[in-house]
Amino acid sequence: MLLKALDASISGIILTDNRLPDNPIIYCNKAFEIITGYDRSEIIGHNCRFLQKEDRDQKERAILRDAIKNGKNCVVDIRNYKKDGTFFYNELFMSPIKDENGKVNYFIGVQNDVSLRKKAEQDLRKQQELMEKRVAERTQSLKENEDYLASIVQTVRESLIVLNPEFKVLSVNDHFLKTFKVTTEDTEGRLLYELGNGQWNIPALKELLESILPTNNPVEEFEVEHDFPYIGKKLMILNAHRIELEGQYKDRILIAIEDITDRREIERRKDDFLSIASHELKTPLTTIKGLVQIMQRMVPPGLDEKFSSVLDKTGVYVDRLNNLIAELLDVSRIQTGNIELHKDLFDFDKAVHEAVETIQVATKSHQIKISGSTNENVSADESHIVQVINNLLSNAIKYAPDHKEIDVYLSRVSNFVKLSVKDRGMGIRVEDHKKIFDRFYRVGDIQQRFPGMGIGLYICDQIIKNHGGTLWVESELGQGSVFSFTLPLNKHAA
Ligand code: ADP
Repeated sequence: MLLKALDASISGIILTDNRLPDNPIIYCNKAFEIITGYDRSEIIGHNCRFLQKEDRDQKERAILRDAIKNGKNCVVDIRNYKKDGTFFYNELFMSPIKDENGKVNYFIGVQNDVSLRKKAEQDLRKQQELMEKRVAERTQSLKENEDYLASIVQTVRESLIVLNPEFKVLSVNDHFLKTFKVTTEDTEGRLLYELGNGQWNIPALKELLESILPTNNPVEEFEVEHDFPYIGKKLMILNAHRIELEGQYKDRILIAIEDITDRREIERRKDDFLSIASHELKTPLTTIKGLVQIMQRMVPPGLDEKFSSVLDKTGVYVDRLNNLIAELLDVSRIQTGNIELHKDLFDFDKAVHEAVETIQVATKSHQIKISGSTNENVSADESHIVQVINNLLSNAIKYAPDHKEIDVYLSRVSNFVKLSVKDRGMGIRVEDHKKIFDRFYRVGDIQQRFPGMGIGLYICDQIIKNHGGTLWVESELGQGSVFSFTLPLNKHAA
């Protein structure tokens, strides 16, 4: 029964006799025959080493030898070969059978073909090695990318701060440290509002930053002036955004700080210069204008026609120069907040008709057509509003040299009067729509073809804003332009 039980096992089992020379096999079960392909009669009397064929150089053999010598148990995965030469991994459990004196008489060997498991293990190991290699490569390339980005961040000439949702500083770049004369330890991990002597504790900024995380609304062009302990007064422009990675908002805020102290100072000096220069030019020009008028009156009858015509032309050019200087003075008045409005009720439609007529008289090249009406009296500074209308009309003429129709539309919209000037000229790219209302901005390479200083629309915009209205443009390149403005009728709004 015991022999039958042994033959029923799926593990190969052998017995070796340690008392005989070379420890030969004295028994093997059925499974051993199936695993190795040898018949019982071929192996009885042999030492087990035939299972390794020529593959003798295996450390597992030394483990086995050692266990046999010391009469101990051992388990090894050893490379074996079947009778037909097929390789298999043999998981061999070897155990001594001792007599009552402790002498090892026999060894039992239990074996299983574990080639499949071994292969799976090897494949897994290879896969792991491959994965590790890939991870190492990716890590390396990520690190290179990170270094690359970090070097950009460190080189930009803007101060950058990254904050967490509690407004603690996570990191700052070198430019920040240099500009505000602080160290990394002074900043990282601290609350933005507690940095330095609380220099960033600005209520308006706090309010804006607090609205970024919940709404994702960026803070743009926020101007801050602050007196810093070591570096003095600084004028800065702040832009703050919630950091977005792969389309997902992260709970981090990036603040970019541009120091515009020097730029503002230069702008201020330029404005001062313009203001002084225009004042200085205005005085002699007024005298010249007066003298030309005297000469015009003094022309004796019967004098050469040419003389009068030269004098008249001189008068026209003096007037033109006068207007240019007046515009420059307007700019400096706006800059210093000294623009004065003298508001009175006047008939808006009548003022528009008169302004159009004056311009129409002076231009033969264009035809200005008025349609619509407001039938309203507005409370505004008439001369300034006429100045705006003149400016829009002269631009429509100037920038549409080959298209003679210009339309002026008048309407009342809600409690506003609205005026639009439409030309069919060169038009304006959408990217320039906002910029043309900036001081001294002229589109592209316009200077060679059309003279001008780029301040007319700036002045118009300021005048309309000061009246509580808006001025805007609708245009496309090559499609003509429509400039419109509104003025409020409501006395409170005005
Ligand atoms: P200027 O005419 O002296 O350049 P403005 O402030 O009046 O100054 O205009 C600013 C710029 O806007 C102009 O240089 C021109 O490029 C553009 N612009 C103004 N009006 C028109 C218009 N009607 N059509 C096309 N471009 C215009």
